[in-house]
Amino acid sequence: MQEELPRPSPIRALEHNITFHFEQKNKSFCNRVLEEIKNGNIEPHFNYEIGSKIIQSPFVICKEKTIQIQERFLEFMWAFIYSHWVKFEEGQMKYELNIKYGEKNEIDMTVIKRASLLRYWAFSLLNELTDWDIQLPNPNPKAYAYMSEKEKIYAEKVNTIFLDAIGILLWHEASHIINCHCEEMIKIKEKTNDKTTEQDKNFILVCEKEADNQALEILMNEETDQPQRMLKGVSILMAFISPLFLVKGPEKINQVYHPDLDVRLGNVLEFVGITDQVCEYYLYRFGCIILDEYFVMNSTLFQNLKIYKPNTLVETAKDLFYEYLDRIELLKRSLKNT
Ligand SMILES: [Zn+2]
Repeated sequence: MQEELPRPSPIRALEHNITFHFEQKNKSFCNRVLEEIKNGNIEPHFNYEIGSKIIQSPFVICKEKTIQIQERFLEFMWAFIYSHWVKFEEGQMKYELNIKYGEKNEIDMTVIKRASLLRYWAFSLLNELTDWDIQLPNPNPKAYAYMSEKEKIYAEKVNTIFLDAIGILLWHEASHIINCHCEEMIKIKEKTNDKTTEQDKNFILVCEKEADNQALEILMNEETDQPQRMLKGVSILMAFISPLFLVKGPEKINQVYHPDLDVRLGNVLEFVGITDQVCEYYLYRFGCIILDEYFVMNSTLFQNLKIYKPNTLVETAKDLFYEYLDRIELLKRSLKNT
């Protein structure tokens, strides 16, 4: 066993990778950001917040011309991605291949159990800030002594998914600055609720869509290979499905200034443009596995949803995924009526 690591979170092992990824993915976007830095419209650094009270994805602070990143959120995201991806790859996909095609993949229950422990910790971060147990999987190579060979391979692959997922969120925020959304957004958000007009809400929705599209275009980079698009789709799935778990209570799925979380999730996955059947199955099946967990975590609310009748005729994973989104839509409506 190696010595104890110093206190800093293991996520800091990826600190420079995050900034490098943000800068290098798309030259013309990067040049526009640099121009805005020269013009004094954006600070040449991110604000990195440690020990934040609530957990929140990166956000632009228009007045300070900067983007805030929380360490706690980065920790949540890495653990969220690792634990779900391992559950899906090691538990679900291997099982399906063994059953459907008679393959003899060995399923490593220890890897799955340790991934579950990491997931419980990630969800506990929603309520209290605690240290990452470095004996569990994490991205710091100095802690690899605690991990099995298989876990190290998973961790390396998760780093790629994680960097793309965080990249999307940061490009989205930077897009608000370089497309001059900020000034108008500050004015609208400073208004009290009763003074916000439909026009204001629509303006912000248009800005949000523009920022989403720009971020997604940077990531997809006109990629034509379907398996590659699918992998990037996994990062998109992670970036946009995680907010369902971050909001306090399903009633917060309804958003004022963004499309509702479930609607946005459906939209961004369509953007991935998967046409290959196997790739489509993989991406949407993965989405369903995560939503299954979401339903279990909120089971009381969903059980009370008597109007919901599962459609047993769905034929594809994509159909089932949309069936699940419909279920969330029904919950939203029922919560609005109470
Ligand atoms: Zn935004």
